[in-house]
Amino acid sequence: MQKGKMNIAIVGAGASGLFLAKKLSSCKQANIVVFEKSNKVGTKIKASGGGKANIFNTNLYPTAYNNPVFVQNLLRQISVEDIKHSFEQMGLRLAVDDENRVYPATFSSQSVVDVLLTNLSHQVKIITNYEVKHITKNGNTYRINDYNLDFDCLVLASGSPAGMNRTKRTDYNAYLNSLPFKQQPIAPSLVGFKLQAYPKILSGCRVKTDLSLYQNNNLIFKEFGEVTFKDDGVSGIVVLNASAWYNRLKNKDNCSLSFDFLCDDNYDLQKHWQQYHDFCGILSPKLNQLYQQKPFNIRCLQFKILDVYDWEFAQVSSGGIDLDTIDEHFQAKKLPNMYIIGEMLNIDAVCGGYNLFFAFASAYITAQYIVKLWK
Ligand SMILES: Cc1cc2nc3c(=O)[nH]c(=O)nc-3n(C[C@H](O)[C@H](O)[C@H](O)COP(=O)(O)OP(=O)(O)OC[C@H]3O[C@@H](n4cnc5c(N)ncnc54)[C@H](O)[C@@H]3O)c2cc1C
Repeated sequence: MQKGKMNIAIVGAGASGLFLAKKLSSCKQANIVVFEKSNKVGTKIKASGGGKANIFNTNLYPTAYNNPVFVQNLLRQISVEDIKHSFEQMGLRLAVDDENRVYPATFSSQSVVDVLLTNLSHQVKIITNYEVKHITKNGNTYRINDYNLDFDCLVLASGSPAGMNRTKRTDYNAYLNSLPFKQQPIAPSLVGFKLQAYPKILSGCRVKTDLSLYQNNNLIFKEFGEVTFKDDGVSGIVVLNASAWYNRLKNKDNCSLSFDFLCDDNYDLQKHWQQYHDFCGILSPKLNQLYQQKPFNIRCLQFKILDVYDWEFAQVSSGGIDLDTIDEHFQAKKLPNMYIIGEMLNIDAVCGGYNLFFAFASAYITAQYIVKLWK
């Protein structure tokens, strides 16, 4: 190691790892090695937002996240403007939609990955097809597998198994077993629900509805949006958001989803029926077919939740490394110069750019701190 040089290892070339590498690459003393287990980098950024990558949201409110207090404190250190400015400095033009969701102006997630990789200084080396399996502490430095370099600083940014098939998610983050971190069990989130006594006839139907999540008779979450009915359950952004709230519940007993297909408290359904003897002008064809087979309450069609869909269909994980493990700079309290960022931590949010924001924000704060420490 050269005198004054700092060897930094980043585990994972995803959203948080690449953003961190980019931020650190302007630090002349840094020698950065990014270890990526797959043969590609930025895979989830590319998959994000249906290939458009909704990278953050200008309306950032703490209750979008499972731990609002943590996020409130985070927002004392960093703002949406900081992330916006960072991307603009990388040369990425941004576009905002009417729900405050920010995308690359190209509406291509590839542009985000491209600006993160462009002009990376020669101090950054990205090694693909390299799975980190063991981390050992060696005095004041860290060693990764049998890689021939001691690292002064190590950043864990290896995400979660969300969106992965069974083969890819086997032993995900197994290297953490050798580290003394408390973890909350992880579960698929931003994912659809399997429902009980679900009428298959609805499969393929897409409707706008008021969706409510109940536990017993208590309303947990309600939102208006488009729902896609599948063979054995439902999906769609509003459903994914309901899953984020479902995962925040300590126990999942007696949870149900309720659909109000009318979304208008003032409409007189009884009068409508008396006049037309049919709901074909109110309900979409499949719903109307169902109604004709077995009449239901149009304002409240309710199904018991059996489970969420599998990891493969999830956008994020709920659970992960306890937030108590880290300090305000994302440094592990028990292991100096080791940092944990992004989705590995027990932070997740509803849809709208909040999850990528957290990945970038945690990387931003960590980068700032590492640079300051080394000066
Ligand atoms: C389909 C889909 C759509 C999404 N859409 C959006 C959206 O529009 N907006 C939004 O805000 N969020 C979205 N998300 C969520 C968002 O992509 C993630 O929250 C974010 O990418 C997490 O960043 P990360 O850096 O923590 O992890 P990741 O981006 O997952 O990166 C982790 C990296 O670490 C690598 N890795 C894992 N283990 C090891 C190991 N042992 N050794 C070496 N490398 C390892 C992985 O291969 C991966 O490349 C979406 C997710 C999915 C799946």
